[in-house]
Amino acid sequence: MSRINILDDSTINKIAAGEVIEKPASIVKELVENSIDASSSYITIEIENGGKDLIKIVDNGRGIPHDDVNKAFMRHATSKIERVEDLNTLNSLGFRGEALASIAAVSKVKMITKTADELTATEMIINGGNIVSKNPTSGNTGTQLIVSSLFYNTPARRKFLKSNQAETMAITDLINKLAIGNPSIRFKYINNKKTIFETTGDGSAINAISVIQGRDIVDNLIEISYKSPFFSVSGYIANNNVYRSNRNFEYIYINGRYIKSSNLMNIINESYKAIIPINKYPVYFLNFE
Ligand code: ADP
Ligand code: MG
Repeated sequence: MSRINILDDSTINKIAAGEVIEKPASIVKELVENSIDASSSYITIEIENGGKDLIKIVDNGRGIPHDDVNKAFMRHATSKIERVEDLNTLNSLGFRGEALASIAAVSKVKMITKTADELTATEMIINGGNIVSKNPTSGNTGTQLIVSSLFYNTPARRKFLKSNQAETMAITDLINKLAIGNPSIRFKYINNKKTIFETTGDGSAINAISVIQGRDIVDNLIEISYKSPFFSVSGYIANNNVYRSNRNFEYIYINGRYIKSSNLMNIINESYKAIIPINKYPVYFLNFE
């Protein structure tokens, strides 16, 4: 016990995976954010059994060049920053270069990717962090990531996953938030082979809200817009005809990025207190810049 060991890469990646991947929804978040960072205009998300058995993300973004595919799965491998100064001007969602390495460490991953310049796509299979194969294949420009058998090599963590229904709810809530926050991207969401929704990608947030939350919500929204010297806020707030029994319909974004802020939520909920029933939560979609 007194000797100090240097951990091997596989152990390091599994430990890092514990921080990056809390649940299947964390994988969906990382992969969809990668697709957004790759300038995709169409992203398909498919899951099975709460994401435990399958998470498949297909995008039409810029793809990864054949020679870079291995690097994408290495820790601290990123195309988004080069040096620490770049953090000051960063506008991508990712930059730590940990997601793919962590996901690959605790699942079976297949990636098919192709850039616009390449004639053939690359297919790489990684199980538990070990490269099984890398071959040329046919495919469209963009990236497909298929994650199966989550935590198959860390059974203790698999056991701690919630029910399929609970994990699906977390994924659905996340995709709703990403799709409404990125109305210029067409999102298709498939759960257990059933299409749940497909947004238009026409740039209109209200159209995305309508597809995802339905007309009864959209018909009760009021558009707002406010500018102060310090910030601006715009979006939609519901009137008192609609309210919910949980906080999942409180959408807050900063510069287009979905955030959770109990501070902001509490302030807004306080304002709604007088007009909606006790123990109910308001519905709103707000972007702060
Ligand atoms: P990060 O997003 O922090 O850079 P990741 O591990 O998520 O780290 O991804 C590593 C790299 O792999 C990215 O920087 C990017 O260059 C590439 N990559 C990952 N996913 C995609 C994708 N869907 N399309 C294009 N490139 C991708
Ligand atoms: Mg990333």
